[in-house]
Amino acid sequence: MTDSAVDDNWTSEESADYYAIREWGAGLFDVSPQGEVTVTVAGKDKATAVSLLDIAEGLQQRDLAMPVLLRVENHLDAAISQINETFANAIGVTGYRGVYRGVFPIKVNQQSHIIEEIARFGERYHHGLEAGSKAELLVAMSTLRDRESLIVCNGYKDAEFIDLGLRARQLGMPCFFVVETPEEMSLIIERSQLLDVEPLIGVRLKLGTKVDGHWSEDSGDRSLFGLNTQQLIEAVDRLKGAGMLHCLRLLHFHLGSQIPNIQNIRAGILEACRYYIDLIEEGAPLGYLDLGGGLAVDYDGSRGGSMQSRNYTLEEYCVDVVEAIQECLDPEQVPHPTIITESGRATVAYTSVLLFNILNVSDFEPVSLPEKLPEGAPEQVRNLAALFDNISLKNLQECYNDAVYYRESLREHFRRGEVNLRMRSVGENLCLAVLQKISRLIPELDRVPVRLENLTEQLADIYYGNFSVFQSLPDFWAIGQSFPVMPIHRLNERPTREAVIADLTCDCDGKIDRFAHPEGEKRTLLLHPLEKDREYLLAVFLVGAYQETLGDLHNLFGDTNVASVRINGDGNFDFVHELHGDTIADVLSYVEYEPDYLFRRFRETAEDAVRDGRISVAERQKMLGAFNESLRGYTYFER
Ligand SMILES: *Cc1c(COP(=O)(O)O)cnc(C)c1O
Repeated sequence: MTDSAVDDNWTSEESADYYAIREWGAGLFDVSPQGEVTVTVAGKDKATAVSLLDIAEGLQQRDLAMPVLLRVENHLDAAISQINETFANAIGVTGYRGVYRGVFPIKVNQQSHIIEEIARFGERYHHGLEAGSKAELLVAMSTLRDRESLIVCNGYKDAEFIDLGLRARQLGMPCFFVVETPEEMSLIIERSQLLDVEPLIGVRLKLGTKVDGHWSEDSGDRSLFGLNTQQLIEAVDRLKGAGMLHCLRLLHFHLGSQIPNIQNIRAGILEACRYYIDLIEEGAPLGYLDLGGGLAVDYDGSRGGSMQSRNYTLEEYCVDVVEAIQECLDPEQVPHPTIITESGRATVAYTSVLLFNILNVSDFEPVSLPEKLPEGAPEQVRNLAALFDNISLKNLQECYNDAVYYRESLREHFRRGEVNLRMRSVGENLCLAVLQKISRLIPELDRVPVRLENLTEQLADIYYGNFSVFQSLPDFWAIGQSFPVMPIHRLNERPTREAVIADLTCDCDGKIDRFAHPEGEKRTLLLHPLEKDREYLLAVFLVGAYQETLGDLHNLFGDTNVASVRINGDGNFDFVHELHGDTIADVLSYVEYEPDYLFRRFRETAEDAVRDGRISVAERQKMLGAFNESLRGYTYFER
């Protein structure tokens, strides 16, 4: 512990408060009195908490260098149990006469270890898989062992896709085709007659209901997928014509992901149920109602305060779903269908944590001010020096305006050659000193003037993190998603530095400068000053959904190391799965380089240098060794 931590009574509790871990952590993450983030898993009698720092140290001892994507398997299992049991409860208390069957949409996290765990653990609930492509269907067909677990096929389907699904039917798997276009219906009819297999058919509705949030375009008339009412009638008539209306077993709709507002979900169900009733009337047996995804994650812990959140609990979601269906179907005396949901985000978001270390910090602090100004200091520099002495709570706004004005004037004179580099540097430093002094006084103001509001941001330190936003947090960059971020240790020391976090890519978008928080997204985050010879580890939480496979190879930073941990009731943990991230050779081959060829070329260059007497043979060997080692090495910063 540092001295500053001893003489200052900041506690873990204050960190818990500041980083809001108890708001977004959903009881799965907390802070220990020792100042470390803990991962908590529920047990039969009591919960077990393990320090994330202990896990991180265990990873490093196993040669899994930072950055690491850590998966906590217990959290995945818990999410599957929770949705199944909460639906079962809702069905119990409302007297619903049907069951719930969840399917996990593979696209949300395709990693084999995740899918296998879902299939293995989900078996007790008959939790199935949703496939949106041939590749995903192959995964579902070979992973699910339980014959009551459903497979739901969405997306565009060619004859090969349909044949695969029909084979699954022959093997006894409840595999549904959800029809997205009328043409697809004809193809399904044709292929199933040819192979002589009865398909399970669903239709995807294009509902009029619009939802809030980022994915509002997925809903409403202009949504990309699903059948409108004319197409639906056409599809039903094609089935009737082929004598296959009895194969129409499922109605599907998907309003979009991360639906923040429960009212939208209710409205969608009520609309879909009208379709359900009328299709039964048309003679389709149905029996399954698939609500798609949309169950949101409370990323910022605001409980409905933003689009990154949700204004409902899982209990409310399940009860509302069940009740809305009953409300609509009961007056028409239509039997209650099996309820399917395709929750992806809510199932896997909490499982994964991105861990990374900080490599360096650059701050915007002035170097120490000179006792007196240099001989011949220009007017702007003298003004800035005077300004520095005159700052008070009463004139912050005025001083800010003046400082910026003098600095601009100084720069202008420099451009014209009237001020030299040394003088400009003295002036820039003075200006920084003025701005920092203002910034430190701002918290004492009752009301912050508009122009000073983002001064903290302008002066924030830049912490350089060992990761790539593009590889590990693509939604942060692509759709403005923010995630909770915090240090995983030193939480009983006061964090004193306002900071933003830059990644390793030299891209101006390669940074985290928005942090999920219940009181509104923060533009800077308080962090601890770096200590000599001690790693400072941060984590980005709730990254299990969509982040792993949407990531890209910007600057050729590849997949990170991955580890899965299982926490036991006795407080121990096991590393159940370790996967080394991409090597440099891996990422080079993704963009069509041949690592062997690169090596041979480099060897020729080295050999030429030996011939020309520029290096010795021993040096050549050393260089070739280093080149080879780099090819086999990690793409991230290594200590
Ligand atoms: C993406 C998608 C889902 C998953 O949605 P979440 O909001 O992550 O639960 C489910 N169904 C379909 C059809 C999808 O396209």
